Amino acid sequence: MEEARKYIEETYSKLVKKDPDQTEFLQAVKEFLNSIEPVFTAHPEFIEQNILERIIEPERIIQFRVPWTDDQGRVQVNRGFRVQFNSANGPYKGGLRFHPSVNQSIIKFLGFEQIFKNSLTGLPIGGGKGGSDFDPKEKSDAEVMRFCQSFMTELQRHIGPDLDIPAGDIGVGGREIGYLYGQYKRINGSQAGVLTGKPLMLGGSLARTEATGYGLVYFTDKMLQNEGKSFENKKVIVSGSGNVALYAIQKVHELGGTVIACSDSNGYILDPAGIDYTTVKQLKEVERKRISEYVTTHPTAIYSEGNIWDIEEAYQIALPCATQNEVNKDLAKNMIAQGVIAVAEGANMPSDLEAIEVYRQAGILYAPGKAANAGGVAVSALEMSQNSQRLSWSFEEVDEKLTDIMEAIYTEVRDTAKLYQVEGDFVAGANIAGFVKVALSMISQGIV
Ligand code: NDP
Repeated sequence: MEEARKYIEETYSKLVKKDPDQTEFLQAVKEFLNSIEPVFTAHPEFIEQNILERIIEPERIIQFRVPWTDDQGRVQVNRGFRVQFNSANGPYKGGLRFHPSVNQSIIKFLGFEQIFKNSLTGLPIGGGKGGSDFDPKEKSDAEVMRFCQSFMTELQRHIGPDLDIPAGDIGVGGREIGYLYGQYKRINGSQAGVLTGKPLMLGGSLARTEATGYGLVYFTDKMLQNEGKSFENKKVIVSGSGNVALYAIQKVHELGGTVIACSDSNGYILDPAGIDYTTVKQLKEVERKRISEYVTTHPTAIYSEGNIWDIEEAYQIALPCATQNEVNKDLAKNMIAQGVIAVAEGANMPSDLEAIEVYRQAGILYAPGKAANAGGVAVSALEMSQNSQRLSWSFEEVDEKLTDIMEAIYTEVRDTAKLYQVEGDFVAGANIAGFVKVALSMISQGIV
């Protein structure tokens, strides 16, 4: 459809003119736009209503100063962000990232992808994201607490249980959410529903910590089953060793696969006997140490510096669970050379556009993050439901709901790709299925 192609191209070039330096955001928008052309034949009203230009513009961006005092008594200043991207389907929902690389481009790319991910869950949540360039690594608990208190002192005026409900992401786990919640409560009184990913004693949900990693593996398992395959006896590599990676490793092992390597931002460990999940959990979650320490208790493992996707070792399934753009064209080619048959993303946008093209050319199974890692936000929405009802469901109950949601997302993505004649293209399936629901919802609310 000539008109649709022209509309897409014009929308993208306008954006490039407005935000030429926001490389991650432009990349996320380009990936989305590249796959949605088939939608406009069935929905010409999306062009009349200029939905694309509206959906790539955040409803609101909040940027603020976060001053705090370190243990030496020096005043430090970081930058805080919250992007309230789209509330067509419900209150803004999406995590907070604390990492030195955080800037407006990164938060916008994450917030943009969150719109479609949240739509795919089928739950009534809009898309948002936030964070700071604060680095929690090597900070004392007291420093992290003072930073979180200062961050929340400003953020609290912009969020609320029916308005915007942040959660965790890179650098924001139970400890940080606890401090953020404590400060919110001090200012506004007790409202457990304002943050998700809370520790259990503060109204958190069982299985929220595990949800993104488990959900990723449930999705991947469905995708493999559809091809008559499974995790059984497969060798798997998982990048990262944080929240998502850790529980992906645990679930892969439960399903009969062997995770032979994982990583952090310094390097990776290769343990052909299978990564010992309990040791990684202790090192990363409890002791907050580097992954290199793993080899001191596991002599069969080898530690190397560099990118994990450089590994030359036969394996079949790749689960990137660290960060954006960790896989480029050459690393994707290396995966294929090692025998990879499926890539499923626990991280957000871990494969760059050229890497995705390599997967396509090789004809392997590929599940983009916005579908495969939606389990985290899905269980966050279940945490909101439990908070509203003043109830807490059992681990099994939440895990069962998570399994059903991931299965439903898989089926919707697969069937949407088929319906729009791009069978097997899960990027298109996820983008189209997520987008159509939001676009229809936006139109029904008028020009707002
Ligand atoms: P964590 O902070 O718990 O862990 C992040 C992991 O990735 C760490 O091992 C970290 O290593 C590594 N990492 C971070 N930056 C880099 C980098 N530049 N290069 C190499 N490795 C890096 O975060 P999460 O596990 O929560 O998040 C991981 C990914 O999953 C992110 O893309 C996030 O957006 C996505 N995600 C998370 C969800 C959640 O529920 N937590 C939900 C959906 C998606 P190091 O310790 O050395 O920094």
